[in-house]
Amino acid sequence: MGDWNFKSMDQNSPEVVTAIQGAMKASALCQKIRKDLVAGESILKSDKSPVTIADYGAQAVICKWIKERFPHDPIVAEEDSKELRRPDHKKILEQVTSYVNAFVPNSSSEEVCSWIDFSSNSITDRFWTLDPIDGTKGFLRGDQYAIALALIEKGVVTLGLLACPNLYVDIHEPYGERGCLFIALKGKGSVQMDSRGVNPRAISVSKVKNPSEATITESVEPDHADHLTHQRLAKKLNISKPSFRMDSQAKYGILARGEVTLYLRVPSPSEPGYKENIWDHAAGSIIAEEAGGRVTDVLGHPLDFSYGVKMVKNHGILVSNGFLHDVVLKALEM
Ligand code: AMP
Ligand code: MG
Repeated sequence: MGDWNFKSMDQNSPEVVTAIQGAMKASALCQKIRKDLVAGESILKSDKSPVTIADYGAQAVICKWIKERFPHDPIVAEEDSKELRRPDHKKILEQVTSYVNAFVPNSSSEEVCSWIDFSSNSITDRFWTLDPIDGTKGFLRGDQYAIALALIEKGVVTLGLLACPNLYVDIHEPYGERGCLFIALKGKGSVQMDSRGVNPRAISVSKVKNPSEATITESVEPDHADHLTHQRLAKKLNISKPSFRMDSQAKYGILARGEVTLYLRVPSPSEPGYKENIWDHAAGSIIAEEAGGRVTDVLGHPLDFSYGVKMVKNHGILVSNGFLHDVVLKALEM
């Protein structure tokens, strides 16, 4: 586990224990919904409802868990209960409540809504940020998704956790055990644990120094990133391996454990001015950095988590194993 034990926050700190336990509950809730979906159970069947139910359910469970332990910490999360409280969404709220009940017995719909609404937009000196399901399209397809939770103190991400319930534990056994937890603490490295939150092992980025040997990961969704520009960049750097497409911040996880060398996210031409959300990058970025990687926007600017919910100071995202960062930034100037 290397030097993951340090004085300020370590693996036994209340923040770390809370983050791991909260994310594990949310992860189990999401996996239950996925299983019910595949089994054709009576989960609502409109296109978006399973992910809506999982999103709200995961947020309710994690927000309640954090708020009970850190009552003064704001939580900046993706959802609020406004839509869910509408009379025509009564059935969805009932479903959310029934799934939450498996983790918090006897909770009422009103309580579930109030836990979801612990979320606020307060960017303060110390706050948590949460994406209850990052990669919703992956979740619906049965591909990758992540529960992403980070603690931000004075604009700096000090703790990041990604629960990736559907991610293979070992690249050499892609059909083997699934479910990974990645966690990083500022200055203390990154670890991967199994889905029960045990067996931590230190992870580190790939040592590739020759750009032509690099492998790129990018979004599956063409609306989330400019695949064509990524392809041009690959050609320019003589990268011959095809890009590895994956949904969610699981991309940061596979880069942090050395499976890929670069994560490119040039804004898609369908929305060239898109500004990223803090909960889509806070957890992933510290996990990549603490594993030895480097994270900036595509112009080389550090990610700014202090401004608001939207990362208005940044344009796109570039993650690398460090060695290749400057060469890629230069190539992106094309
Ligand atoms: P990924 O799975 O990496 O494609 O990222 C999923 C995240 O992309 C979601 O959480 C959304 O917040 C975010 N997203 C939505 N629209 C866009 C867009 N136009 N450009 C970049 N990211 C987006
Ligand atoms: Mg997201």
